[in-house]
Amino acid sequence: MNETCCSHASAGSAVCEMPAPTLVRAARDATMCAVCGEKGKPVQGQTVKSLLAITLRQVRNAEYLFCRTPTCRVVYFSTDGAQTFTAVQVRERVYQKEPDAADVFVCYCFRHTLGEIRAASPEARAAILDDINTGIQTDQCACDLRNPQGSCCLGNVRALLKRLE
Ligand SMILES: [Zn+2]
Repeated sequence: MNETCCSHASAGSAVCEMPAPTLVRAARDATMCAVCGEKGKPVQGQTVKSLLAITLRQVRNAEYLFCRTPTCRVVYFSTDGAQTFTAVQVRERVYQKEPDAADVFVCYCFRHTLGEIRAASPEARAAILDDINTGIQTDQCACDLRNPQGSCCLGNVRALLKRLE
C-alpha cells in the first residue's frame, strides 16, 4: 500500500493542512523580502552604510534586513517595504548571492575566498579556520563593516567546509 502522510486520517491530516495558510500570512510580514518572499536577517545601519556603493543620502533612519536567498537580487531591504538595494548597488560581491564563485570572499575580514578554501588541503583548511578564530580573538575583525551580512563569517566558513567534505 502506498502511504503518504495524507493517507492517515488522524495525526497526518493536521500536518497536511498547515502549509497554505502559513504561506499566505508570511507574504505580508515586514521581515520578508518583497522579491523572493524569504525572511530577512536584521542588519545594523552602519553595515548598510558601509557596504552600499551608492550615495548614502538614500539611507534613511529605517530598519534594514539582509536577504540571504542565492537566487534573489536583493541584498538589503527596509522593513517598511519602501526600499530595496540590489547586488549591483553593493561594494562587495555577496557570498550568499554567489555561493559557488571562486573569487568571492567567504571571510571578508581576513580575506579568504571560496576558491582558496576549496583548493586547500585538509591541513590548510584547518589553518584558515585557525587564522579566522585567532583574528576574532585578537579583535582584528570588522564583520559589521566588511561582511555584507553584517555579522561574523565563521558559520558560513564552517558550513562551507562541511559542504566540501
Ligand atoms: Zn530576497
